[in-house]
Amino acid sequence: MTDKQITKVDKLRVLQQAFAVQLPERLATIRHTWEAVQDGANETARCQELYRLVHSLSGSAGTFGFPRLGKEARLLEAFLVQLADADYSNVENAETINNALAQFDTLAISGADNAHEESSATTFQPTAHARTLVYVLEDDHLLAPEIVSQLEHFGYVAESFPSTADIMQAQEKCPADALILDIALPEGDMEGPSIAPQLQALGKSHVPLIFISARDDWEARLAALRAGGRAYFKKPLDFTALVEKLDCLRGFDVTEPFRVLIVEDSVLLAEHYSAVLQAAGMKVEVINDPARLLDSMSEFGPELVLMDLYMPDCSGIEAAQIIRQHPSYQGLPIVYLSTESGLSQQLDALKMGGDDFLQKPISDAHLVAAVSIRAQRFRGLNTLMTCDSLTGLLNHITLKLTLESELALLQRQEGVLSFAMLDIDYFKSINDNYGHPVGDRVIKSLAHLLQQRLRKSDTVARYGGEEFAVVFPNTSPETARTLIDGLRQSFAKIAYTHGTVEFNVTFSAGIATASPYSDVASLIEAADNALYEAKHCGRNQAVLINTAS
Ligand code: GH3
Ligand code: MG
Ligand code: MG
Ligand code: MG
Repeated sequence: MTDKQITKVDKLRVLQQAFAVQLPERLATIRHTWEAVQDGANETARCQELYRLVHSLSGSAGTFGFPRLGKEARLLEAFLVQLADADYSNVENAETINNALAQFDTLAISGADNAHEESSATTFQPTAHARTLVYVLEDDHLLAPEIVSQLEHFGYVAESFPSTADIMQAQEKCPADALILDIALPEGDMEGPSIAPQLQALGKSHVPLIFISARDDWEARLAALRAGGRAYFKKPLDFTALVEKLDCLRGFDVTEPFRVLIVEDSVLLAEHYSAVLQAAGMKVEVINDPARLLDSMSEFGPELVLMDLYMPDCSGIEAAQIIRQHPSYQGLPIVYLSTESGLSQQLDALKMGGDDFLQKPISDAHLVAAVSIRAQRFRGLNTLMTCDSLTGLLNHITLKLTLESELALLQRQEGVLSFAMLDIDYFKSINDNYGHPVGDRVIKSLAHLLQQRLRKSDTVARYGGEEFAVVFPNTSPETARTLIDGLRQSFAKIAYTHGTVEFNVTFSAGIATASPYSDVASLIEAADNALYEAKHCGRNQAVLINTAS
C-alpha cells in the first residue's frame, strides 16, 4: 500500500468512527421523534421530522460502513413517504415502524459491516457512555496497535498515528476527545510535549491529554506537565491503569444527575418545578396522574419524589403510602409540596409516609437546595447498601431485587429477558501466582469492561467473589449471547502485567432466558447450570440454555 492510500484509508476510518460514535444518539433521536409522533396525535411537523431523520440516515449509513443499516433505512423511508398523517396511528403501520427501528438498533450494535472482524466485535457497540475518540501519537510500530486494541476492548474508539503531521491532519478534520502522546519521536526528543499545545488548539477545548514514555526523568515529566499533560505513564504500559485514568479524566465517574419524580396534577406548576430542577442539572420526570406512579417509579428509579398534597383522584398522602408498601422504596425520600400551612395537617402528612413538607409558593433556590440535599443523602446511603465496594457494581442482594422487578414487568408486558452469569476462569491460580491485589485488579477491570461496554438498560452486578451477573431486559438470548461473547473475546485480550510478566485471563458464562412465568430462583439456577456446562466444556466460552417454553 502506498502512503497516499494509507492516509485515505485512515481518513475514511476516522470518518467512519465518527459516524459510529454518533450513531446511538442518532437512533435515539429517531426513536424519540417517533414516540412524539405517537403521543402528539400525528402532528404534521413531527411526521416530517421523522421522515427527515430517516432520510438522512439512509443517505449516510452506507457511506460510513453500515450498508445494511442504510438499506433498512431506505426501506423505512420509502414506507414513510407513502403514509398520510393519519396512517401513523394505524396499529399495523406502527408495528412496521417499530420493527424497522428495532432492526436499526440491532444493525448498529452488530457494528460496521466492512470493519475487520475484531473491530466489529469490539469497536462499534453503543455503550453506557457516549463513544470517545482517542488519538494516539506513537511511532513504535508494535506498541501503537497494541494501545489502540487495548483501548478498544474498553469501548473507546482509538486511532494511532506514527508522526506529528499525521495526527495534526486528523485532529484538524475530526478532533479527538482525548489525546495520548509519546514524548520522544523521530521528529525530536521532546516532540510530544512541544506539539501538544498546537494539537489542543486545533481540537475541542480541554480534552484530556496523557503522555507516555520510556523516559522517567524529571525533564520529560516537567515538559509533559507544562504542555498540559494530565497524566504520565512510563513504558512498559500498564493498560488497565491507563484506561482507568482516561475514564477518570473523561469524567465518566462524575456523579450522575439526581433523578427527581414530580407528582403534581397541575401541568403548568409541574412544568415550572421541572424546569427549575433541570436547570440545576437534575433529571426530572413528571406525572400528572398518580395512577401511573408505580410504572414510572420502576422505570425511572427516582432518588426523590416531590409530591403534591391535593390531587383530584388520589391524595398525595395516599400515593406516598402506596409507594411505601413497596419494600425497595422504604428509604426513598418523599417530599410533600403544598399550600397547606396548618402545622397539624403538615404533621399528619409526615406521619403518613412523607419525609418533609415544603410550602408553596417556594422560591426556586429553596426548592433546588431542599431537593438536592435530600437526594444526595439518599444516594449516599443507597450506594452503601446496594453497591459492592471493590467494583462499584450492584451487589448480590440488589441484583436479586432488580431481577424480581424486571420479572414482574415482564409478566405485565409479555416481553423477553435474558440473564447471564459470568465466572472468571482459574482465578484461584491468579491469586496464587501474582497475589491477591493483582487478583483484585483483574476483578476490577472485568467490572469496568462490563460497565463500559454493556448498554444502559442492562444491569450489571458483582454476584460474588469472581462472579458477575448481567440482566438484559428486552433482549433475546441470542443477542445476549452475542453481547457476552464479544465481551468474552475482549476480556481475553486484555494484557495484565505483573512485574515483567504479562498474562491474560478468561471467563466463562451461562445464559438463560426468562418466560413471563419464570421466578428469580429458577432463572438463576438455569444460568448457573449453563455456566457449569461452560466450565465443564473447557472454559472461556458462553453457553446458552433456553428455559422459555
Ligand atoms: P474456575 O475456573 O472453576 O472458576 O476456577 P477458579 O479458580 O476461578 O474458582 P474457585 O471458585 O476455585 O476460586 C475462586 C477464588 O476467587 C477463590 C477466592 O479466594 C478468590 N476470590 C474471591 N473473592 C475475591 C476477591 O475479592 N479478590 C481476590 N483477589 N480473590 C477473590
Ligand atoms: Mg393539586
Ligand atoms: Mg467461582
Ligand atoms: Mg472462577
